Amino acid sequence: MLDSHDEKREKAVAWLREADGLLITAGAGMGVDSGLPDFRGQEGFWRAYPALQHQDLSFEDMANPVRFAEQPKLAWGFYGHRLKLYRETVPHDGFAILRRWADRMSHGAFVFTSNVDGQFQKAGFPEHRVHECHGSIHALQCLVTCTHDTWSATDFHPLVNETTSELESPMPRCPRCGALARPNILMFGDWGWVGLPYEKQQQRLAAWISSVSKLVVVEVGAGKALPTVRRFSERFSAQRLIRINLRESNTNPSHGVGLGGSAAATLKMLDAHL
Ligand SMILES: [Zn+2]
Repeated sequence: MLDSHDEKREKAVAWLREADGLLITAGAGMGVDSGLPDFRGQEGFWRAYPALQHQDLSFEDMANPVRFAEQPKLAWGFYGHRLKLYRETVPHDGFAILRRWADRMSHGAFVFTSNVDGQFQKAGFPEHRVHECHGSIHALQCLVTCTHDTWSATDFHPLVNETTSELESPMPRCPRCGALARPNILMFGDWGWVGLPYEKQQQRLAAWISSVSKLVVVEVGAGKALPTVRRFSERFSAQRLIRINLRESNTNPSHGVGLGGSAAATLKMLDAHL
């Protein structure tokens, strides 16, 4: 049993020293120290988007393809605001620490993230070493899926009314059929998501994992509410799993170590002991 915080830290540091490949698994908690909202709880969501409270719309209501069909200006107001926010956000120091750790390992790093914000790429992780299991806000697709093509959102510069949360600039359109375009993100009740680019990422991830002989997994800010990332990390808990989480750091002690704390502070603490 690893009871004390010091023992857990020492074990985590030893794993990081010995490993030849770093698998980073990340959830919404990874972005909080960069100033991003994690939409945890109804109150937090409405604080970020007060106009949606007036219409009694939850995150689940907004992250739904139905919203694009029924209230396209509001749907694009929400996602357009996020797109702009993620473009302007500077990744916190924890990202650079992870990159430095990866540089010391012969196989480098691979990222598995449920975040759609593109922050790992922005922090310098190469595109071909990231698997975005819920898609990316920086890509667009056709709302009616006339094609399985996706395209970059680079040319789309949303202008959002802060009071109404509606998009005021022209809507992005599918270049093939002219229908509304939507973010290439896996939403709730989403049958039309184009997941092909992410399946390719997943294949690259699987190939990378099989090439690594001493894998260490660093999971950051992945909560229990949407357990995709935690479940993925736990597949490798027979190897070495370091779970960093502000509120839900518990893990089976024989499988890994859980460190309670925020992403940036905990990564800095480990880095100082490495
Ligand atoms: Zn189309």
